[in-house]
Amino acid sequence: MPNHEALYGTSAYDGDPDATVVVVGAGLSGLTAARELHRRGVDVLVLEAADRVGGRAMAETTALGSRLDLGGQWIGHDHHRIMALAAELGATRYPMHTGTAPQVIDGGRRLPLASPSVLPAGAALAGVGVLSLTGTPERWNDTTVDACLRRVPGRVSRRLLEVIASISWTADLDRYSVHAMARMVRQQGGLRTVLSTRGGAQDSLLVEGVGTLTDRLAAELGARVRTGHRVTRLVRDAQGITVHTDSGTFRAARTIVTVPPPVAARIEHHPPLPADRAALERNTYMGSVYKAIAVFERPFWRDRGRAEFLVLDSPGRAVFDTGSPGGPGHLCTLVAGPEARALDDLGAEERRQILLAPLVPHLGTGVLKPVSWHEKAWHLDEHAGGGYVVLPEPGTSEGISPLPHAPLGPVHWAGTETADEHAGYLEGAIASGVRAAREVAETLNAGRTR
Ligand SMILES: Cc1cc2nc3c(=O)[nH]c(=O)nc-3n(C[C@H](O)[C@H](O)[C@H](O)COP(=O)(O)OP(=O)(O)OC[C@H]3O[C@@H](n4cnc5c(N)ncnc54)[C@H](O)[C@@H]3O)c2cc1C
Repeated sequence: MPNHEALYGTSAYDGDPDATVVVVGAGLSGLTAARELHRRGVDVLVLEAADRVGGRAMAETTALGSRLDLGGQWIGHDHHRIMALAAELGATRYPMHTGTAPQVIDGGRRLPLASPSVLPAGAALAGVGVLSLTGTPERWNDTTVDACLRRVPGRVSRRLLEVIASISWTADLDRYSVHAMARMVRQQGGLRTVLSTRGGAQDSLLVEGVGTLTDRLAAELGARVRTGHRVTRLVRDAQGITVHTDSGTFRAARTIVTVPPPVAARIEHHPPLPADRAALERNTYMGSVYKAIAVFERPFWRDRGRAEFLVLDSPGRAVFDTGSPGGPGHLCTLVAGPEARALDDLGAEERRQILLAPLVPHLGTGVLKPVSWHEKAWHLDEHAGGGYVVLPEPGTSEGISPLPHAPLGPVHWAGTETADEHAGYLEGAIASGVRAAREVAETLNAGRTR
């Protein structure tokens, strides 16, 4: 029996060394994979670059004691895995406070959705719905959403579509092909599902926050999760893999990389990655997204109506009422693409003013006095890389979800973008973690019985 310490570096586990698996990344996918393996009796270690777990899921506690999510928050109507996980971990799900459609604000005025200036947008969206079902010709992979939008008649319709597309996929629209968008819509369950709140992808939320689920998964794994361990190099050999981090070296039989490809591009591989995998890392990018939640003693706007808006004025944004029944008011704002990055140079106070002041005519002056303000620019998070999802560069095909995940020797791939269903969502993160864990467990079992 080889010396465990020498063979497996600083790994502190005494189980069968051949069964040791290192999971790279403690997001929902990595934590799910690790828990699955741990439950099957496999020694597992999760290495996370950031000083917190959760990745693109991140909850905070407000000044009023409520919980909110600065990362992924909504649970889709058919996202059964995340519903089951929430129930298992004792979290409470509540339906989103929403109506049939958001109110559109342009130049401070509310625009009726049936107004003639909005009709071309409706027709264009119906076209996208059809394309997602029929597929688009390959050559549309060179046509950007931005170029298509320029052909839509009317400033209001163009701008409305621009805001909807950018908030839905966080892409720079001049860097996102119509082909990739149509494939994404199909993968995410159709346009109606992608855009809808009730009965769609934004159906319900958790009182405790999705971030609580990742915290609880990590707590269950205990010392098997190590934050502040950025993986820098993976060296594959006939026996397994050596995982180099900036805080030490680990030896494992198998590894599961859950880091999205454009972020994983910073991990060096020896021997080098095959051409198709290298192209996947090179030809993809993470979207830019800024999310803020203003917290109020109570959702006072519900006395007068709803607080769900698509704001066409700059920065274009979507506003949602995300508070729980009987809880404080939570007003959530999402800004995406270049308009999200434009907010980076401002101070928090200035951003708050810019985002809340235009809501005064619709919600009253109370909206200017939140008890607390929580915000995060995900594109500035070096370990997450951005959000919500990996995007392919126009003209390339490697980054169109679901991303390929055939193992490379001892390296397995997970992360929401590799999920066959609901890629880009929390649901996809869980599905990919379960799939990768099963894959690894089967390989380890096969090794044992050989
Ligand atoms: C603002 C925002 C809103 C969203 N809204 C929703 C929503 O409402 N509903 C929904 O379903 N989804 C939503 N999403 C998407 C959802 O959050 C993600 O699909 C999901 O969290 C991805 O989980 P993951 O584990 O696949 O990836 P990640 O969470 O990205 O996990 C990867 C982990 O790897 C770590 N890492 C990176 N590099 C290294 C390295 N070199 N070494 C070690 N660790 C490394 C990262 O720090 C991270 O923790 C949203 C995302 C964002 C950003």
